[in-house]
Amino acid sequence: MILYNTLTHKKEEFIPNEAGKVGMYTCGPTVYHFAHIGNLRTYMMEDVLEKYIRYTGLDVKRVMNITDVGHLTSDGDTGDDKMLKGAKREHKTVMEIAKFYTDAFFEDCKKLNIKTPDVVVPATTYIDEFIKVISSLIEKGFAYEAGGNIYFDTSKIENYNVFHNFTEDDLEVGVREGVEEDENKRNKADFVLWFTKSKFDDQELKWESPWGVGYPGWHIECSCISMKNLGERLDIHCGGVDNIFPHHTNEIAQSEAYLGHKWCNYWFHVHHLNTNSGKMSKSKGEFLTVSLLEEKGYDPLVYRFFCLQSHYRKGLVFTWENLDNAKAAFDKLIARIASIGDDKAQGEDEKIAALKERFDKALGNDLNTAEGLTVIYDILKADISGASKKALIAEFDAVLGLDLLAHAEKKKEADKSASADIPEEVMALVEQRAEARKAKDFAKADELRDRIAALGYSVKETRQGPVIEKV
Ligand code: AMP
Ligand code: ZN
Repeated sequence: MILYNTLTHKKEEFIPNEAGKVGMYTCGPTVYHFAHIGNLRTYMMEDVLEKYIRYTGLDVKRVMNITDVGHLTSDGDTGDDKMLKGAKREHKTVMEIAKFYTDAFFEDCKKLNIKTPDVVVPATTYIDEFIKVISSLIEKGFAYEAGGNIYFDTSKIENYNVFHNFTEDDLEVGVREGVEEDENKRNKADFVLWFTKSKFDDQELKWESPWGVGYPGWHIECSCISMKNLGERLDIHCGGVDNIFPHHTNEIAQSEAYLGHKWCNYWFHVHHLNTNSGKMSKSKGEFLTVSLLEEKGYDPLVYRFFCLQSHYRKGLVFTWENLDNAKAAFDKLIARIASIGDDKAQGEDEKIAALKERFDKALGNDLNTAEGLTVIYDILKADISGASKKALIAEFDAVLGLDLLAHAEKKKEADKSASADIPEEVMALVEQRAEARKAKDFAKADELRDRIAALGYSVKETRQGPVIEKV
């Protein structure tokens, strides 16, 4: 598989550290609010990546954190604690907020066919692990105590700016307008590993540590949860592009300082979902959820289809019109799949292998899901039996996750119950009309259509067969 690696700015062949096995880490949600459909675009594309890696025969262990402490509203070490903000907004405790929004997140994932990672770790359950790694970083000279907090010293590592895609200005994350510079820092880019002198006296969750009662910074959690569950050498780390700096940059700095060697080989970043007015953002408070899509009558998998039509390394603009277009295309595709017959045939191996190769080429080329979808249309057009078509769709859909065959079955059921309400006399005329059309006896077909109309029904021919409606 060829994959774009943010670390090298190149498409590279994906080769795991250990043959046949892949360690995959995903930055999980900050659970102070519902996930918006932008967040879920990232999780969905990561899900396709995981499923495709499995499809190629590799065994994947996927680990994800849940940020339930320490993520401040600024990407630096300033701003409110996001969890505390959520708790205040809803007059609940931080743990109640975390539980509620963690459950809501996994419900949304289920609706979008996003598989739950093999290991899910809430940050608050790993405090001892954070303390262990931070202590070691202090011992090794990579971290220092200042003003009651523990900071990572970015000047102690050779190449802090590993992704090479941010500027000196970006490094001033703690010195934004209206925000006091953190005078404890030795270098602009240094970041907090452990807070004891919190600006928030009402911080609910605090733990004992060798440096006093406090709580962890945001970045340390992902490094520790990953290293503990996936070992010292990680194959692939995923997230949205906004995670590249400072989050992933800091994860690499502290993990490699702790380990003393390279940590993760491949970095996979999904670009943002935007609206016409800009990036969809949880902290701005204006965002679209899966529940809202459902309330408006959309099947959540139509949103998945919409996302798969675009490449994960391109920004995607969400508008209702775009979603409607995706819905129309999805419904048409389902209707075509519903009309596949059950016929079987021998000697189709070559044609089947060619379709599989096309799918592999698409997904194996930096996860080109749009191209992968066109292979589904190619299956429909292919000169192979219905049974083979269905088997191929099932196989590819294990990666795409659109429940195509289940939707088609549902459509058939719905069509059947709709036709059950139509009088037998009308059904008989519709059948005769289909025969007449097949025999190209259009005069008879028209006459039959008039007789059907006289009984109060209209009949329209579609590629999927006749559609009968009461008029
Ligand atoms: P958060 O819950 O804010 O920590 O974000 C969860 C995930 O969603 C992270 O991987 C982010 O990089 C990603 N993300 C945030 N905003 C967007 C967006 N507008 N489009 C796609 N992904 C996003
Ligand atoms: Zn992370």
